[in-house]
Amino acid sequence: MLQPSINSFIDWRQVLPLLDVEAKEGSMPMIVRCPLCRAHQLTIYDDNRFGGNWHYCNNCKSSGDLIVLASKVWGVSILQTILRLADAGATIPEKYVTDQQIAKYESRYAGLQEACKKMLWNATYDMHANRTRVRSAITSMALLMDPLQPSWPKRMGRFMGGASRGDVYKAIFNRPELSFGVLSKTGRVLDKAGWRDVIVIPFHTLPQQCATLLFYGIRGMEGLSTDLHVIDCGPGVINRRVESGLCMYDVLCDKLTDPYGFGNVAFVFNDPIVALRLQARHMRDTSQPLPLVSSRTGEFTRGNSTVTLTSQDVWTTCPKKQYIFWNTHMAPEIFDSAAMANGLVCISPIPETMTRQAPHTVLSFIQQNARPWMVVLDEQLQLLNEEEAVEFIRSLLMVPECLQQFRRHCSTKIQELLDRNSGKIHSLSTVQIKKKTIVESDVGWFINDRKPECVSNAVIRMVKILCDADDEDAEPIVSGFVLYDKKSYPFQTTLSTINKNAGSWLKKFLLRVAGELPVVRNSWNTDLFDIARQFHEPQVVVDDKRFGWRPKKSCFRLPQFSVNIHGEIDDTPADIVEEFSPGTELGPPVLGQDIGPLLCDTPANRLFWAAISCLCANILAPAIGKRTAGIGLVGRGSILVGRSAAFACGSAELRAGCISVTTQDKTARRIDEITGRHNWPLVVSADGGGGHKMTLSTWLNGAYNRNIVTPLGVDLSYIAGILGPWRFIRENTPIAASMAIHEIGKFVIPHWLKCICENQLKLPQGDSYIQQIAMSLRKTFNLHGDASLISKGADLVDDGSADPENSALQFVRLLMEFLQRGRMRFVHEGEHKKNAIPKIVRIAADSQRPAVFVGKDALHTVLANHTLVFPDHQKITEALQIAGALRDECAYNGDNGWLIDDEWWHLQVEKCHE
Ligand SMILES: [Zn+2]
Repeated sequence: MLQPSINSFIDWRQVLPLLDVEAKEGSMPMIVRCPLCRAHQLTIYDDNRFGGNWHYCNNCKSSGDLIVLASKVWGVSILQTILRLADAGATIPEKYVTDQQIAKYESRYAGLQEACKKMLWNATYDMHANRTRVRSAITSMALLMDPLQPSWPKRMGRFMGGASRGDVYKAIFNRPELSFGVLSKTGRVLDKAGWRDVIVIPFHTLPQQCATLLFYGIRGMEGLSTDLHVIDCGPGVINRRVESGLCMYDVLCDKLTDPYGFGNVAFVFNDPIVALRLQARHMRDTSQPLPLVSSRTGEFTRGNSTVTLTSQDVWTTCPKKQYIFWNTHMAPEIFDSAAMANGLVCISPIPETMTRQAPHTVLSFIQQNARPWMVVLDEQLQLLNEEEAVEFIRSLLMVPECLQQFRRHCSTKIQELLDRNSGKIHSLSTVQIKKKTIVESDVGWFINDRKPECVSNAVIRMVKILCDADDEDAEPIVSGFVLYDKKSYPFQTTLSTINKNAGSWLKKFLLRVAGELPVVRNSWNTDLFDIARQFHEPQVVVDDKRFGWRPKKSCFRLPQFSVNIHGEIDDTPADIVEEFSPGTELGPPVLGQDIGPLLCDTPANRLFWAAISCLCANILAPAIGKRTAGIGLVGRGSILVGRSAAFACGSAELRAGCISVTTQDKTARRIDEITGRHNWPLVVSADGGGGHKMTLSTWLNGAYNRNIVTPLGVDLSYIAGILGPWRFIRENTPIAASMAIHEIGKFVIPHWLKCICENQLKLPQGDSYIQQIAMSLRKTFNLHGDASLISKGADLVDDGSADPENSALQFVRLLMEFLQRGRMRFVHEGEHKKNAIPKIVRIAADSQRPAVFVGKDALHTVLANHTLVFPDHQKITEALQIAGALRDECAYNGDNGWLIDDEWWHLQVEKCHE
């Protein structure tokens, strides 16, 4: 292992004062007075490659690290300099302040840089003087210039030279004690048979700081060959990623006049030969180079070790430049560099005129076509398929912040692509938390350490935080998904649940949805929320979460679309979709979707349209100021088809169970809450057993809005009818919903909503509201076939919802039902049969008109025998009063009850038999 440079342990704050150089804290690089030549032209740089600081004087051309600078100022050896710096309190670790370590530093850092500088200077003049045999290599490279020309050293000679292998070895190994033979074996540079003299092209990371050497030469039969030497920068290399430096770096420091209007722009090619050719052509006529440099990035293998050459930090050395990166095709390294330089990118084939036009014209063309790297990257990614795009992003080496910044600013399409695949994209997946680096991969979150440590093997992705616009005290909801074992599990939970202890929540969640217990390090339980948030900042959405008719916006809104009063469709999906949100499966109306099969006259289709008419009646009711009515499904056939129709309309289902009194209250509140939130019919189902008869007891008796669809027994349907507005569909024959209902039933509502809105909610003529609804449905679908079946279906609806006397009629029907089944008995006054059967008594006293007495105890007894809901007595009284049927409330034979007009009673009984 190579030792680090001793210069990397100290910085300018320690060294410059010792050299009587005044320097103030500020951004780097900084310019100070040169202690060697006194010119105010000494630039101090941060040295990102070898560590510490670097100096370069634009006046006296002194360069090197600060130990070298101090050594020059003090006029003493490197050894003496380091000892003196250490004595003065410079922070050099003691183990490096030994003769041996200092000798190593001198040989491999300070001395090596000096040796390279010297070798490069010699190479320039050796080539110029034709002392090296590289002419055929130059010809092969098509540089089209003659090194023998007098102006050459000051022109292209600045960027290249010719050297023998011996010269190269002497410089880059800086081991004078070793022979050429030994070096050529150990060095593994230019070591294959056939190498002779080579063209040397240096890449610099700072002025006169050599980082990489590129060699060109004719190698035996192979012809023109290249080789590369990367100057090692010690153990500081991260992931074997090494700054390559720039070819023609000097032009960045040159004070150029600006005849072509490039301003502070510097052009960066990724192919040094193309760049050198263009520069060489330009410099045939001038000593002033174009602002053109070249990087050389990519993988580089030497023996067993591979390093990745990048251009990441070199841009910071000339921060005022606006860099434009040009390449013929989309390559990850272009964007990596451009991201770090915050530069522009131009991807275009070599302009045809490149070889003919003036080089500065070529650069102007590139400048005109360059745009910010994020824009170009976005565009280029859109040209790829998803797999290719992900692969491309994965190959980027840019720091996570850059990619995360790109994610925030790119197009929605690419953003969604990134989010879908963030588990696969390492750069999108590193955050700092508790001073640790957390990495996200497709197997979870890890602490990035020499030995990676699992934080959680599931990843929480919070997509949105949903706030209730109606209720600021309401707990915000977090929606997103959990990635576990390569599967995605969507979730919605309250902010406080996940924020309090995300680890505990995650375990419970995955146990529930996947039957798996994830690994979560307990000490990180409460940090998972922050980790999740850092990886992906959720979008905050304020919404009222309501569906159905929206009076304020005059539109019908469903999770996937909304349609306004003019019939215009907005297919922006809603952000908040909850368990009881209706219409989750209903998409915007699709032109040409045929519902013809639903118009065939079959028993199932008739029932379907009966139910649809009732459902549509409730969906439209709040928009046109009508009351909703309960939809009661009575009998097997009615239940089977009616439920399917309700689900086809997007109704959510509440399963209500038990029969305890508290549950009845809870159920009532729950139903009211859901139907109050969404103007949409809700399916209420009983869970098991006969409990359902009582489940709705509180709700039926209360003054709740009746927007539900529910199966009811015959008796219960009458009780319901006493207590509120209902529409019933009665069919005992077990008719199953057809495939057509299951498959195309869901297209009915979207089309109808669009149609009804296009007519500004105006209904066609009809005998009743339900018939009007049926007519509007017919109008919607009459292009799909003969739609008259819809009206026939609507005729099946037992609709008393608009009749004020209906409640009283339902009361009579209930009693008739009991009488017919022998559960009650109708007797005349004086007939005192002593049995326990509850009785309805006809009283015909001479002084009064005859009346029918229904006792409350008698009614209670029969209801209790059937475990049926007790209707509120007051409601029965009111119903009879409204119908003008109540003679009196009185006692008879010790039972309180209702005295009902006999004539009215008989009229109703006749109606029941119709
Ligand atoms: Zn100087």
